[in-house]
Amino acid sequence: MGGWAIAVHGGAGVDPNLPAERQEEAKQLLTRCLNLGISALESNASAIDVVELVVRELETDPLFNSGRGSALTEKGTVEMEASIMDGTRRRCGAVSGVTTVKNPISLARLVMDKSPHSYLAFSGAEAFARQQGVELVENEYFITEDNVGMLKLAKEANSILFDYRIPPVGCAGEAAATAIDLPTKMNGLPISVYSPETVGCVVVDREGRCAAGTSTGGLMNKMVGRIGDSPLIGAGTYASELCGVSCTGEGEAIIRATLARDVAAVMEYKGLELQEAVDYVIKNRLDEGFAGLIAVSDKGEVACGFNCNGMFRGIATEDGFMEVAIWE
Ligand code: ASP
Repeated sequence: MGGWAIAVHGGAGVDPNLPAERQEEAKQLLTRCLNLGISALESNASAIDVVELVVRELETDPLFNSGRGSALTEKGTVEMEASIMDGTRRRCGAVSGVTTVKNPISLARLVMDKSPHSYLAFSGAEAFARQQGVELVENEYFITEDNVGMLKLAKEANSILFDYRIPPVGCAGEAAATAIDLPTKMNGLPISVYSPETVGCVVVDREGRCAAGTSTGGLMNKMVGRIGDSPLIGAGTYASELCGVSCTGEGEAIIRATLARDVAAVMEYKGLELQEAVDYVIKNRLDEGFAGLIAVSDKGEVACGFNCNGMFRGIATEDGFMEVAIWE
């Protein structure tokens, strides 16, 4: 065993004009979440417990697009989704269309641990939440001023997301972002609005157990009832005996690619190492779409990859390595 490793993300595709203070705030939040996970791992917490703990923290802070601060539907409401998977036993839980649950990742965990199912949605998920006694809040709790403003912009542009494509080789940071030749349409809709980002966490613990979790409000100005990749096991989240993976980016493209599962599959069937597997799926599975992912392996390795201008991310390993970054 190679010791514990942890990675967190706060979404792929970064607004090239994101003010420096917001970049700093994001880095601080990612650092705080990594430290929270590291302390738990140092106390021998299991991978699945650490994933839940860290994603809860990200959901509770309004900065990223999950829990409080979730992206809004076209009706200005919040419909959150989350999933979690324990690779050791290949057990999983997921929820969609959640409107009052403060921490959707914990509800997903309860679906895994306390229900006979893997995935509950909308009124059934809410009823299960009430039955399990999880913390509930008014829908308004999740809605932030920033997101109301962003929804307005999205509506004016009749758009669902901004697309940040691959920067030219050799460019990084703001230079790369401004150099990107942005397409103007996606799924037939004009692209002009920055969408805030989904969160995720992957962990391998000292026993070599891998786990993954992802939580999101989905895409800004999404249709009511839209389900993205984040709650779909195999698309946005996957964990096996070999690895744990959490994805972010354009949900429809991630679903078509079964992105998270493909990382595990190429490790399993092609014998690729973790970083090779991540690079392989990012390069070969994402037709027109953009996405990023974080991954850990049972050997204590950690990896990430993305095909857009940046991804909010942080990684740490037991040997003392720690890095928080946004751009390439
Ligand atoms: N993948 C998410 C979705 O499509 C969005 C994101 O990662 O920011 O719902």
